[in-house]
Amino acid sequence: MTSEPHQADARHCALLSVVVPCFDEEAVIPELHRRLVAALERIPETGFEVIYVDDGSRDATLDLLRGLQAADARVRIVALSRNFGQEIALTAGMAEAAGDAVAIMDADLQDPPEVIAEMLERWRRGADVAYGVRSEREGESAFKRWTAKAFYRLMARLTDVSIPLDTGQFRLMDRVVVDAFLAMPERDRFVRGMVAWTGFRQESVRFHRAARTAGQTKYPLRKLVGLAVSGILSFSLAPVRAASLLGACAAGLGLAGIVYALAVRVFTGAGIGGWAATFIAVLFLGGAQLMLIGILGEYLGRVYREAQQRPLYLVRERLGFPADPQADSRNVRRELRT
Ligand code: UDP
Ligand code: MG
Repeated sequence: MTSEPHQADARHCALLSVVVPCFDEEAVIPELHRRLVAALERIPETGFEVIYVDDGSRDATLDLLRGLQAADARVRIVALSRNFGQEIALTAGMAEAAGDAVAIMDADLQDPPEVIAEMLERWRRGADVAYGVRSEREGESAFKRWTAKAFYRLMARLTDVSIPLDTGQFRLMDRVVVDAFLAMPERDRFVRGMVAWTGFRQESVRFHRAARTAGQTKYPLRKLVGLAVSGILSFSLAPVRAASLLGACAAGLGLAGIVYALAVRVFTGAGIGGWAATFIAVLFLGGAQLMLIGILGEYLGRVYREAQQRPLYLVRERLGFPADPQADSRNVRRELRT
């Protein structure tokens, strides 16, 4: 009875799951696995499983993973039928995770596995989500750092979920949060936004973001823009509101123009001449309308995709999971998957 009061209700993690999505990561997997396992083995009183999700890699990633699995029963593999993207790969891995707490991280060692121990410690002391915040970023261009920063600021202003600045996917979540996440059926899955949306107790853990150890980034500019658009559209109606505002301004300007033209006609008898005014008005209104339709289309496309009710992903192969799925709690969660 001499222990500290919060020590007594500290949570115990019998099993920790670590989910790592891998897309063409042959260059980093051996080093990743070595460091990850070393870090996890150092955590006392906690067993672990590492779930590698092969997101349709075209290189030797899956073969390397198979090799790791053959040598270590704590390794599990979910191989997706094709490349579904990081957010879906994470979802697939989380759906298979059996842990009391689940950590997700990138394969390229930009998220140092040693930080998981600290995240777990936060969880033990009551945090439901411990998310990594990058204090520095190495090996990323000034352009990427700047755009990433601008994106987080924009997200914070436009949406009502507050996604903390400078967080990536690296985080550790309680079972409750993972189940809440898996119960969200949407196809457009912006993981960090959805996890932030769940609420509960979220705490930050600062870490030093290293440069990619090897291989290439899987996020060329095109994909980053897509991610940013998806993050904003799936959490915010601000773009449609901005469009309505623009429409209202244009209409207001138009109205002022009409009043002016009438006034000039009535008081001076002269007409307002020139095709330029007409031309400008038509261009402006036409442009504004096209933009509005485009924004509506983005939302409509999302509604359409949800309405199609396709499964989120297809699994080609599962390896290393306990033989009888009936017997473990994974089965419940697997139903949530589709
Ligand atoms: N990834 C994935 N599917 C994809 C793209 C990326 O599973 O379609 C994984 C990738 O293997 C890595 C993580 O997502 O583990 C982050 O990718 P990356 O390091 O290329 O992103 P960056 O750090 O450059 O933003
Ligand atoms: Mg990376």
